[in-house]
Amino acid sequence: MKKARGFSLMSGGLDSQLAIRVLERAGAEVEALCFTSPFFSSDTAQAAADALGVKLNLVDFTDDIIALVENPRRGFGGAMNPCIDCHATMIKRAGELMVERGFDFVATGEVMGQRPMSQNRQSLGIVERDSGLKGRLIRPLSAKLMEPTIPETEGILNREALLDIQGRSRDRQIALAEEFGIKEYPSPAGGCKLTEEGFCRKLKDLKDHETLSCRRLVELLVVGRRFRLPDGTGVILGRDRADNARLRGEKNAGVVIAPVNCPGPTALIPEIKSSSDYALAVELVCSYSKYDRLLGDITIKNFSDDITQVVPRPYNRVKFKEFQIC
Ligand code: SF4
Repeated sequence: MKKARGFSLMSGGLDSQLAIRVLERAGAEVEALCFTSPFFSSDTAQAAADALGVKLNLVDFTDDIIALVENPRRGFGGAMNPCIDCHATMIKRAGELMVERGFDFVATGEVMGQRPMSQNRQSLGIVERDSGLKGRLIRPLSAKLMEPTIPETEGILNREALLDIQGRSRDRQIALAEEFGIKEYPSPAGGCKLTEEGFCRKLKDLKDHETLSCRRLVELLVVGRRFRLPDGTGVILGRDRADNARLRGEKNAGVVIAPVNCPGPTALIPEIKSSSDYALAVELVCSYSKYDRLLGDITIKNFSDDITQVVPRPYNRVKFKEFQIC
């Protein structure tokens, strides 16, 4: 007898893991699918897929999610997370892959009524309609509360083995995790940077003052502290060695400066808007350097044009607080 074959969206969270086990119990062959971007890493999904023993397919979702952050048709959630549009687009992309591979369905770990904005009956219906996957989109954890899908009516997926979980309680999921022997899973809300307040401050600043269409700048949002100087110049200031090493390699993305006669941060300035802003950026780097280990003044090198300059004391970090984004 033919088995239903499909992709199940995998974040690495418990519900996405349970969805796969429930589908397998209903007789399906399942591959996991994770949409990656600078806002969402595949690390947790990979660990979960490895633990479940299923194949994980990675899809670069960066261009899609940037377009949605710039223009969220159905608005944002609590931060800059366009969850309904994001979900619908991921499922649409998954549907294209389903057709390409000759699979029968796309599944998600969504639970009816679990999240007020993105997982109520209306939102689940919108996602199904917007994604163009009517009849092929399965939510195995709540499937019995919805109309049977095509694989169920065709008899290649056992509806009786699907579930009817609804609401915000996690009790049934926790019990199922035990039943399936799933031990490792992150907290339900974690993982997406678009839900983190500090990260979104940086993202909004980039959107307002520069552009989200430069993929490199979006990718660099995870690096360092952010400052926006009076004439509009943005500065990315390394917090630690890893940040500094990464920024040092970004000469194509802007001007890179750092102290050369004492330990201190590397800064990347994507676009210098005025000479006074540049002077402030140099002073900013000095103020975050370990100048107490130095008897004289700090020498700053501009690695883009190989010019060094001595910056006289004093250096005052407090004065830059008003320019700090995050
Ligand atoms: S939390 Fe992030 S990745 Fe998940 S649906 Fe919302 S915007 Fe998309």
